[in-house]
Amino acid sequence: MTVKSRCDFCIECRKQTEYMLQKKKIVKTVRDKEYTFEITVAVCSECGEEMSIPGLLDVNVQEVDAQYRAAEGLISIADIKKLMEIYKIGKAPLSLALGFGEVTIPRYLEGQIPSKEYSDIMKSALSSPSYMKQRLSENKGKLTDAAYKKAIAAVDSIDRLFSVSNQMLRVIAYIFKSLEEVTPLMLQKLLYFIQGIYSALYGEPLFVEECRAWIHGPVYPEVYELFKDFKYNPIDDVRFALFEGMETGLTAQEKRVVDLVVNTFGMYGGKTLEKITHNETPWIEARNGYEEGIPSNELLSKEQIMNYYISVSQKYDISTEKGLRLYIHDMLDIS
Ligand SMILES: [Zn+2]
Repeated sequence: MTVKSRCDFCIECRKQTEYMLQKKKIVKTVRDKEYTFEITVAVCSECGEEMSIPGLLDVNVQEVDAQYRAAEGLISIADIKKLMEIYKIGKAPLSLALGFGEVTIPRYLEGQIPSKEYSDIMKSALSSPSYMKQRLSENKGKLTDAAYKKAIAAVDSIDRLFSVSNQMLRVIAYIFKSLEEVTPLMLQKLLYFIQGIYSALYGEPLFVEECRAWIHGPVYPEVYELFKDFKYNPIDDVRFALFEGMETGLTAQEKRVVDLVVNTFGMYGGKTLEKITHNETPWIEARNGYEEGIPSNELLSKEQIMNYYISVSQKYDISTEKGLRLYIHDMLDIS
């Protein structure tokens, strides 16, 4: 695989030449076991010989380290950093909280490879807030009160992420993977469109959460609770580290609907999307009897949402981006 093209001195050609970065497989024995690693090499474009490029060795040391850990099922340094980030805890306190010596995690961060046992403890802490909570309370006495309280608060906030269904988390993870910036308002609308279009196309909802009609449109309250701290700002949440990769649990059909919505509705900001839902029957009907600006919490049932998008599908081809763009255009044109 060719990555980049740059120049350096080629010993064979005895001059500056252009080189290409390529991937190369090497076989290495670590602790009596053979491994195949993929490293990056620079190849002279003129003579085809490998060239020695400053910095490349460091890159390869890191690549081999990451591949060795992956092959052995050991936690990566990046994941140890994630652990500190999501639980808002420093390296020494984290060490103590997990029942390790104070310098253990600092050493791992410098590149020392953990034992399988310690690696598994760190992996459990990364995937399960309740496991982390248990460890924290077991080792509470070793931490300062401030560090303990801060970490416990972080654990509780992560626990709340799991108050929504796995399917909802998968959809959210996929939206965040597909779009650069998503505000809470925008996320709510995208989830609503995804649910509506999916159920109209396939006759069943994509996720179990119930939708409510609030002042600013349809809202999934459990999801609102998760991200309300971001207010009108793009959601930038360290807790996402926990469900990175979760979107792989979606079927191709489910992903296709998220793609459809992200590539069409996802091009607009929250306020524009709000304008669309304010022109749609489910929200208008649910708000019947409420003056403007008066809070409401009426249920927008899955059936109402589905039936509305079935009616939309009779006029627009909601299974294509083109059809959805036309729908959006018409909805924004009404008021
Ligand atoms: Zn050369």
